[in-house]
Amino acid sequence: MNNRVNPGFKKELQKFGMSEQWNECFHCGNCTAICPLSENEVLFPRKGIRVIQMGLKDKLASYVEPWMCYYCGECSETCPRDANPGELMMTLRRYLTSVYDWTGMSRKFYTSKWWELSYILFFALLVIVLFLIYLPLRPDAYLMVNESGGVMLNHLVAGISGDQFIRIIEFGDWAMAIIVAFILVSNILNMFYKIILSNKSFKVPFYAYFTEFWRLIYNFVTQSKFSKCDDKNYWVGHMLLMTGYTTMFILVVVALPAFQTEKVVDWYNWQRLLGYYATFGILFFLTVVTIGRIRKKDIKLQYSHSTDWLFIIMLGLTTITGIVLHIFRLAGLPAATYYMYILHLAILVPMIMVEVPFSKWSHLAYRPFAIYFSRLKQVALSKQYSTGLAPAI
Ligand code: SF4
Ligand code: SF4
Repeated sequence: MNNRVNPGFKKELQKFGMSEQWNECFHCGNCTAICPLSENEVLFPRKGIRVIQMGLKDKLASYVEPWMCYYCGECSETCPRDANPGELMMTLRRYLTSVYDWTGMSRKFYTSKWWELSYILFFALLVIVLFLIYLPLRPDAYLMVNESGGVMLNHLVAGISGDQFIRIIEFGDWAMAIIVAFILVSNILNMFYKIILSNKSFKVPFYAYFTEFWRLIYNFVTQSKFSKCDDKNYWVGHMLLMTGYTTMFILVVVALPAFQTEKVVDWYNWQRLLGYYATFGILFFLTVVTIGRIRKKDIKLQYSHSTDWLFIIMLGLTTITGIVLHIFRLAGLPAATYYMYILHLAILVPMIMVEVPFSKWSHLAYRPFAIYFSRLKQVALSKQYSTGLAPAI
């Protein structure tokens, strides 16, 4: 691994939101001692500050510790120099996301809000134009109301049947999911290369890839490390967001024909109950985080990067348009339902195209993989120690 000093590295990190105070650190070690998630094998956040101060840019690319931090803020509250190490770990997560991303888009979005806004606008306009030109509202849309008074959403488009409409939307969903998954998986492979393969000081035993794999799944599903933070409410909010979003993703991508039916089903039907749960989970988290970021009383919500706000706004607008769309359907308003559906997709599609492969949502994938890779590294090192081949790392 190249450990060359890069004097311009601090300036580069400032573009990712690193504040001036970080350099106030005098390495007392309080933050590492108080952090409920820091362990003997994986120490942070002080180590990261040292690496930045020394300008070790290449070393940082293989650094997994920022992903172990769930930003509970306890280190920042107790830092005697107000260096805000918790926020620094957040900056490092943004930076590392751009390091893994071979397309370069993540770096552009994190360092320029105009790039991100232009990208969002492009996909929003693409959705609107595609709908208005290729899937226009049928002239007799006002008749597309079923016996219970609900709008037959899938029958609102001129010249095609309800089944054809659902297939077109399903095709779009899968196309988007495949593109996003391809970028994300290739970035995770890049992360694997930087953390494991490029480091010649240890070699992971082949069996460890299998015996440690459960940690990846377990940490993805439970976010169990997060629950070790003192503020359990934040973990609960995070779980609600994650499960809500995953539920909605499964409903609209994997199970769309069963979810977006012509008939507006009764409120106690699984389809509506799951939809309400997902909406509640996302809205709850958004409300807590938005109020927190405006009030700035909680240290972990005091500093907001432009991408934090953009994420909240995009997710909030997607959720609100989804709710209004549902109300219009129930109220039997076909044209309003149709235009709200287009608006909903014009926000949802760019949000997924930005957030999942390049920004906030990708962190949901990087965290459990970082825990998995970190564990592989530990297994490799302990095996080498036990055989007397202690590496210099
Ligand atoms: S960030 Fe603060 S608490 Fe941590 S080592 Fe530096 S001065 Fe001490
Ligand atoms: S924010 Fe919390 S989890 Fe992150 S380094 Fe500080 S104390 Fe540890």
